[in-house]
Amino acid sequence: MIPSIDLHDGTRIPQLGFGTYLVDPADAAEVVSAALQAGYRHIDTAQMYGNEAGVGEAIAQSGIPRGDLYVTTKLSTANHAPDDVRRSFEQSLADLQVDYVDLFLMHWPMPNRYGGDFPATWRAMVELVGDGRARSVGVSNFEASHLDRIIAETGVVPVINQIEAHPYFPNDVVRAASRRHGIAVEAWGPLGQGAVLDDPAIARLAAGLGRSPAQVILRWHIERGDIVFPKSSHPERMRQNMELFDFELTAAQTAIIDGLDRGDEGRVGPHPDSFDWIPD
Ligand code: NAD
Repeated sequence: MIPSIDLHDGTRIPQLGFGTYLVDPADAAEVVSAALQAGYRHIDTAQMYGNEAGVGEAIAQSGIPRGDLYVTTKLSTANHAPDDVRRSFEQSLADLQVDYVDLFLMHWPMPNRYGGDFPATWRAMVELVGDGRARSVGVSNFEASHLDRIIAETGVVPVINQIEAHPYFPNDVVRAASRRHGIAVEAWGPLGQGAVLDDPAIARLAAGLGRSPAQVILRWHIERGDIVFPKSSHPERMRQNMELFDFELTAAQTAIIDGLDRGDEGRVGPHPDSFDWIPD
């Protein structure tokens, strides 16, 4: 049974989901269908992944009632102008073959583009909640200063901040800043996009627990209270990544994983203050 986390707008989100970054658009329907068959009910996609149509096909074919699914997509960095927020959101709904998404996130703040006016982008996203087509809105890759700014300028607190977090880069400063505002944290790249899986300390813990390295790392995230959606294209690993709720880490085991923190060096992705890439 996958636990749910209460969000400050009164909605709930399954703490474990399925990620779709780098799932090839041509394979997305098949991969996401396999994930739904494995039991995932929370899917994380994005306009920039180019695979929303495949995700939509899998959802439509699954026969799973819409209300049993939690679907997240994210605004492309190409679509920050308020009119583009609205237009691209319509396209996302059409591609996903849904009447609403559960969560719409601003993928990156892009403080060095669009005149630095990401609060205007946020305001346009918030309007989508008003007509019910986005049940919740949130942000991704927001540093504490970015959160402070949208909250000060719009008065609307995102429900979620989706940020890079894993044992090599626990990102605790931004996690704490998010929590202070009542914002739930989603950890992207929970396995360090694969980098943490080969760590010898993780291998020792996994052997001792009779679990896989991925399970040990994902369990650490769950116990930190973050929301995770590991990505795998292999049905066997998809299933393995869901089997996290029948074991616990001791304080000593948690301390070993906490000790793998490499600070900023541990990042696998770009820094949100400087990231300014816009797709064609
Ligand atoms: P991840 O940490 O989930 O790692 C994925 C890698 O780990 C893949 O190469 C996969 O083959 C491997 N893997 C997964 N399970 C395994 C297992 N049990 N055994 C061995 N190998 C295993 O990285 P991710 O996919 O980048 O992150 C998860 C999700 O977070 C993404 O799919 C996407 O939905 C989201 N994300 C968001 C952002 C953002 O900017 N908001 C950025 C990156 C990812």
